[in-house]
Amino acid sequence: MLEIVKFALGPVMTNAYLIADPQTGEAAVIDPADDGDVIVAEALKRAWRIGNIWLTHAHFDHMAGSAGVADRLSPPPPVALHALDYPLWRLEGGAPLFGLHIDPGPEPTVSLEHGQQLYLGRNLLEVRHAPGHTPGHVIFYCAVASVAFCGDVIFEMGIGRTDLPGGDYDTLIRSIKTQIMTLPDETRLLSGHGPETTVGLERRMNPFL
Ligand SMILES: [Zn+2]
Ligand SMILES: [Zn+2]
Repeated sequence: MLEIVKFALGPVMTNAYLIADPQTGEAAVIDPADDGDVIVAEALKRAWRIGNIWLTHAHFDHMAGSAGVADRLSPPPPVALHALDYPLWRLEGGAPLFGLHIDPGPEPTVSLEHGQQLYLGRNLLEVRHAPGHTPGHVIFYCAVASVAFCGDVIFEMGIGRTDLPGGDYDTLIRSIKTQIMTLPDETRLLSGHGPETTVGLERRMNPFL
C-alpha cells in the first residue's frame, strides 16, 4: 500500500508529496518544495522515516525544501535526480532567473535513469524519463497504486512550460504521448502544481493533446 500526503508550498504553490509504505514506515519525499520543516514534521507525526528525496526535475521550486529536510534528519536522505538536470541543479534550479536565491541542499548522489526501479517498503516505483520541460525530467509511476507523480510534465488541462532554458515543446508532447498516455486511463496523475487528474481525463479533455 502506498500512502500519499500532498503539500502545496512556496511562492508558486508547488506540490510536494510525502509518500510511504505505512506498514513499514519507510517514506520518501518527492519534490520537497520550500518548507522542509513542514514535511519532516508531518513524517514524524506519522512515525514515518524519510529515507530518500526524489526529484522529478531540478527547478528551484521543486527542491527548495531539500536543505530543510536534510538538515532535520540524521543521516540526511540521499537526493536522486536524472543526470541531465544536474547542470540546472548547479544553477540553483534557475532561481536567479526569477531574482531569487535558494540553498539547493545536499548534492544529488543517486542518478535516476529511465526504467530504474525504486522501492519504498513493498511498493515499486518505476522511473520514466520525460524530457521537454527540462532535459532530465522524470516521472515516478507506481503501477499497483495506479498513480504517477508527474512533476511539471502535465497538469489538469495543461502541460508544462517549455520557454525556460532546456525546454522544448515537441520533446514535451512526445514525452506525454509515450510516457503518460501509455498508462491505463484510471491512473491518477499527481502534478507539480494544481489539482490531481487522471490519464483518461487528460486523454479526452486536455487541449494540448
Ligand atoms: Zn518546473
Ligand atoms: Zn514547477
